[in-house]
Amino acid sequence: MDRISIVTPCYNEQESLPVFYRQITEILQKTDCEYELVWVDDGSRDNTLSVMKGLAETDEHVIYLSLSRNFGKEAAMYAGLCSARGDYVAVMDADMQDPPGLIPRMLDILREGSYDSVATRRADRKGEPPVRSWFARRFYQIINKISDVDIVDGARDFRLMKRKMVDAIVSMAEYNRFSKGIFGWVGFRTYWITYENIERVAGESKWNFWKLFKYAVDGIINFSQTPLSIASWFGIGMTFCSFMILIFLVLRRLIFGDPVAGWASIVCIIIFIGGIQLFCIGIMGQYIAKIYMESKHRPVFIISESNRGQKNDEECR
Ligand code: UDP
Ligand code: MG
Repeated sequence: MDRISIVTPCYNEQESLPVFYRQITEILQKTDCEYELVWVDDGSRDNTLSVMKGLAETDEHVIYLSLSRNFGKEAAMYAGLCSARGDYVAVMDADMQDPPGLIPRMLDILREGSYDSVATRRADRKGEPPVRSWFARRFYQIINKISDVDIVDGARDFRLMKRKMVDAIVSMAEYNRFSKGIFGWVGFRTYWITYENIERVAGESKWNFWKLFKYAVDGIINFSQTPLSIASWFGIGMTFCSFMILIFLVLRRLIFGDPVAGWASIVCIIIFIGGIQLFCIGIMGQYIAKIYMESKHRPVFIISESNRGQKNDEECR
């Protein structure tokens, strides 16, 4: 019998989790698969862990991993994928924004054979602040232009994958994780399902504008080297300009003599060039910071407690 694992990262989801548990269990019992629910407690500050433990006591399908602190959704998702043992693995949120009712349909699509994963995207950005929508659209436009990886606008992390795709993702042990890019990078044939955005059932979203902005910059740095090229093109452009200005100044000196003028323009030029230099050093700094973190080879997550007995990510690679 096929086994399906449902991986769910949870950060302060004590209210949503029981609702999610009831609905997903009802749906999975109707399929002809064995199933496990892999819940990752990402250092929650509320009673998420005790809710998990309570449910695990009464239902052996519940596997819980509790991380030693809040590592972020990316790390929590990775922890879950590392532990999942199913032939099919789904990633979904605990807040019911990812409808469990889609699972049987996704399973049918994978079993039919020609696809390796079924992913979901939201139909539109209704209900989102206009400023955020605008930035989100620009982000997807930019990253798809400057990166080789296809990153789909409005894609959610909710997807069902075959084992071979999960293994590929687990083998990508990078510390700086940007899942939307990783899912695209590993390839495989993906079927897209579009659905209307659904409001959270309880609790609140952990994202705000700055967190999203930082996440977007991380995504660009992780999946594109174009910002580095922009820095060098700036350099080449400025060198060319300064060369032209030099010729102009020499000619002006020869033709008109040397009237002392242009203090203001010199100050402007100095400030302008200084700004560009700092900007370019900043871009390089971003990449160096990433290299620095990768070179430490730190585990992506650390498990403090689990009913599966796993410790960190090195065990599953
Ligand atoms: N989450 C997590 N660690 C975090 C933040 C979020 O594991 O540091 C989980 C959260 O519990 C939820 C999922 O990631 O199951 C998505 O979070 P959220 O609903 O806040 O994001 P949104 O749906 O607004 O994109
Ligand atoms: Mg959500």
